[in-house]
Amino acid sequence: MQIIKSIESLRETLKPFQREGKKVGLVPTMGALHDGHGALIKASVKDCDITVVSVFLNPIQFGRNEDLDKYPKRLEADANFAASLGADYVFAPSVAEMYPNGDPLTLVRDESLECLYCGAYRPGHFRGVLTVVSKLFLISKANHAYFGEKDYQQLFLIERMVKDLNFDIEIHRVPIVRESTGLAMSSRNEYLSVDERKQALAISRGLNEAKEAYLAGERGVSKLRDIVVKSIVLSRGQVQFVEIVNQNDLQKYSGVLKPTDKVVVLVAAFFGKTRLIDNIEFN
Ligand code: AMP
Repeated sequence: MQIIKSIESLRETLKPFQREGKKVGLVPTMGALHDGHGALIKASVKDCDITVVSVFLNPIQFGRNEDLDKYPKRLEADANFAASLGADYVFAPSVAEMYPNGDPLTLVRDESLECLYCGAYRPGHFRGVLTVVSKLFLISKANHAYFGEKDYQQLFLIERMVKDLNFDIEIHRVPIVRESTGLAMSSRNEYLSVDERKQALAISRGLNEAKEAYLAGERGVSKLRDIVVKSIVLSRGQVQFVEIVNQNDLQKYSGVLKPTDKVVVLVAAFFGKTRLIDNIEFN
């Protein structure tokens, strides 16, 4: 396992493999790796000849009052974890390496969803994500990239960007990895106190209850939504949003769901000061 810090050195390292037609897989992360990231790394190692895990805490996707400064950092442990799963390289550039001219003037953004759901509460977040992911695609020239369904809106926007801009890369979706309690794994779970961690189980519990109600025949959008909201509120969480949306275009449903509707429930909620996201597909 080698940690590579410069763009040029990553390009030089990958060139011989790419010349031989080897498959390069990219797993973009912000570090503080856990088994959720592990699932992405394993999927890449299985499919590809070479796996590159990027660890880059991308400042341009954080708002001014967000947790950029306190986000957990542990590059060496991350590199050991990635190596233990069979990854070949960790690409860990500095902010100056990625943005040598300060904040980029050229940004990749979508025209409609960046202001909805997570984007409504995190202005500029998705353009920061799409911009850094584009840069990582262009720098690595990877053939495959792996993203988690935990960040559902992000994954949707990346898939769409790849289609819209003809990136020559295949995007792979990896299902959400949860702790045995049901809590979706996240680097931000480390911020939770012992009590908050228990209370936060209300998110996955609420999502599962809504899915059970749906499978038992409930089709009212607001009824299904209320099940999730109630679960979180009763557990002292603060709901940022719970939305019932279409998996194919992420547009909101209202009224009564039809049998053909492809539903996913998106949630963001605070427990204490920690913002958590989660989601569940109904079919
Ligand atoms: P992050 O380091 O939080 O930016 O996440 C990097 C990648 O790991 C993203 O594609 C996330 O969706 C994915 N990821 C994070 N947590 C999980 C999880 N619990 N299950 C599956 N994928 C995850």
